[in-house]
Amino acid sequence: MPKRPLLMIPGPIEFEPEVLAALATPSPSHMDIDFAKVFGRALVRMREVFQAPGGQPFVIAGTGTLAMELAAANVVEAGDRVVVVNTGFFGDRMGRILERLGAMPEHVRAALGEVPSLEAIEKAVSSGPCKALAVTHVDTSTSILTPVEAIAKIGKKHGALVIVDGVCATGGEALKQDAWGVDVALTASQKAIGVPPGLALVVASKAAMQVAKTRKTRVASLYLDFGEWLPIMEGYEKGAPLYFATPAVNLVAALDVSLGRICAEGIDARVARHERVALAFRAAWRALGLAMLPKSDAIAAHTMSAIWYPDGVDPAFVGRAREEGVVLAGGLHPDAKTKYFRVGHMGSTDGTETVATIAAIERALARSGRRVELGVGVAAAQHVFAKG
Ligand code: PMP
Repeated sequence: MPKRPLLMIPGPIEFEPEVLAALATPSPSHMDIDFAKVFGRALVRMREVFQAPGGQPFVIAGTGTLAMELAAANVVEAGDRVVVVNTGFFGDRMGRILERLGAMPEHVRAALGEVPSLEAIEKAVSSGPCKALAVTHVDTSTSILTPVEAIAKIGKKHGALVIVDGVCATGGEALKQDAWGVDVALTASQKAIGVPPGLALVVASKAAMQVAKTRKTRVASLYLDFGEWLPIMEGYEKGAPLYFATPAVNLVAALDVSLGRICAEGIDARVARHERVALAFRAAWRALGLAMLPKSDAIAAHTMSAIWYPDGVDPAFVGRAREEGVVLAGGLHPDAKTKYFRVGHMGSTDGTETVATIAAIERALARSGRRVELGVGVAAAQHVFAKG
């Protein structure tokens, strides 16, 4: 029987057995008091993971795209101008969501592999009334990491609400939602949060909740309306379940387990582990003569890598890597889709998965006709882990 390959794409990721076990338990009633305790604890843990003691968490059945829609639909109205710091495919998606709301997205872009300068962002924000400033923490199509703290500061300075798409970041990259002044932070369950796909996770600041409450027009979609969900989230946190729309009970239980694991590791330690894993992968790329899509390490994600194919290697490489035991992702950015591959390294990834993945990549490169000295990438990564 073929062995199950290691899933090293930027979400879904390898999930921990304790998390998966929560999915295999008989479903509780969503009105059950014991389930309410689990849901309530997950909400409390979300504040800790997002570093948002003053924030209002929402856990809603859906994917990351739903989380993006929730964020935009509640604080943005038709006619509002919104600046989008665009570092790839998911910046484009936020723009499309904003257009559907009748808002006016204005994209600030940089060349592929770069981040727009803070000056360019500030110029766009200050060049007219700006309701919100949206940024993707890590764009999964490019692996570009944006300086969220500095960007949020610009938003605050000019009175714009700051929306951060942390789908490929939260739980793996540093985020201090309250301290940095992020108004709406959003993610999904299937990446660094460590739970199978199916939950949209959002934490809204007090300012964002106030804006949502005092908006001029009603949120057009019932399911997206914070106003409908707020009593539900408050109810679960108080241990008093209320019904609006059936929660994904097993996924919520799995979320509570995974957030518990994240909090037990400690969010700072977890971010540091992701940094070390990223350093090990970067050492391997260098040793193998492979170039990362981000132009510099300072703007490269710690949760994933995007790597240009070397000369002579094409997307068939991803299939060969799978035969070597590791599932990788192909390119996603429309300008360069067939020219690079992506590796997810988030959640509980440590030295074991990192070394196995690099070894499989070396073999797949060799089978793709690339001359590689087998083991040089592995050795470079090993040195990073051996340093402790
Ligand atoms: N934003 C980012 C940065 C993402 O990586 C993704 C998913 N890859 C999304 C939003 C959308 O999430 P989903 O596919 O769960 O709808």
